[in-house]
Amino acid sequence: MLRLEDADVFYGKAQALGGVSIEVREGEVVGLVGRNGAGKSTILKTLMGLLTPTRGRRIHKGEDITSLPPQKISRRGVAFVPENRQIFPNLTVEENLRLAGVMHKPGFWTYDRACGLFPRLRERARSNGSSLSGGEQQMLSIARALMTNPTVLMLDEPSEGLAPLVVRDVRDAIVEIHRQGMAILLVEQKVAIPMSIGQRIYVVDHGTVGWSGTTAEFAADRAAIENKLAI
Ligand code: ATP
Repeated sequence: MLRLEDADVFYGKAQALGGVSIEVREGEVVGLVGRNGAGKSTILKTLMGLLTPTRGRRIHKGEDITSLPPQKISRRGVAFVPENRQIFPNLTVEENLRLAGVMHKPGFWTYDRACGLFPRLRERARSNGSSLSGGEQQMLSIARALMTNPTVLMLDEPSEGLAPLVVRDVRDAIVEIHRQGMAILLVEQKVAIPMSIGQRIYVVDHGTVGWSGTTAEFAADRAAIENKLAI
């Protein structure tokens, strides 16, 4: 579905990724975990086209999309929920959502279905983005990505900074989104959520893939992996 092949990525002269290969297959939930600064966000940004690898390729459904810009990658069905959420503060919740659907093919995810997933968003439909709590912003950011009806959804630390009850709601929403057939690439610093809802895990370490395998394999070897990679 979506793959990064042997990618090197730099910020100026500083190398952030070295020879990274990861993939998300159809219908999978894949976790990307690792310490602060390991390179997880850089992987998502590279897949989305916001960064370009100096070596290696990005592939979507078998096609090389290395040279495509983010808006074209988005139109192919790849969606990204960034860590800082990036909702429009001066637009209402409803405007944020409806705007996201423009320029994309209609599909399962409509305004009503997105609000069905997060009922709080319907209650806040007329509120400006700037007035939302952190949890509401995260819900809006995820719902907005759904409005583009992607086939792959990439989420960058959706649980970060949220209260435990909101984390549970966001986790349940990810499970429901997956149940509707979406492939999901989920970045989290800690492994708990990817372990509980994912099929495979990559541990990112100093800009490389330090470990990869199924969640069952991770569980069987958890202490050794966490110890070696200090996650
Ligand atoms: P976090 O959990 O903090 O988001 P991460 O695993 O997502 O960590 P990245 O944000 O991908 O890590 O960062 C990987 C490396 O690239 C780090 O050393 C970071 O300092 C560096 N880096 C990230 N963004 C930039 C940037 N815009 N300019 C320069 N260096 C950057």
